[in-house]
Amino acid sequence: MRQLEGKTLQVTGELPAEELAAGFNDPLVTFATPLAYELELEEQPQGILLQGKLGITLSCVCGRCLKTFARDIELPDFAALAEYEGEEAMVKEGDFADLTPYLREDIYLALPTNPLCKPECRGLARKAKARDLRLQVPPSDGSSPWGALDQLKL
Ligand SMILES: [Zn+2]
Repeated sequence: MRQLEGKTLQVTGELPAEELAAGFNDPLVTFATPLAYELELEEQPQGILLQGKLGITLSCVCGRCLKTFARDIELPDFAALAEYEGEEAMVKEGDFADLTPYLREDIYLALPTNPLCKPECRGLARKAKARDLRLQVPPSDGSSPWGALDQLKL
């Protein structure tokens, strides 16, 4: 914090995946790399303005075929205000401010909610085939579904 007084500060580094993932629990998404950040911190009357780039690689499990695949998340225009006071105030430890929650929040928002290995993934081959079969609806001739029964002469 003292380093920041009245000026801007460039910080570049990595946040370990475990720290980023604290409290995060999604069976389909895990953080495969640390979070890389390139930020400019600027002291403002209400707090510290964070601006810069974030990047991380995820390991995702496809929600349809269960294949594991990597996905890069890039936030080229990350910006957040770490406020000194208020409900969302930053957590300070001595002269250090914990800015992790602000990075975490934006990364979480960028995560895929239903990861797919590719948009047109058709899922497990056998399941997809069964689904296709179910979709083969008999051609409609305009008669009621009970038509066949009506033909029955009892
Ligand atoms: Zn898939």
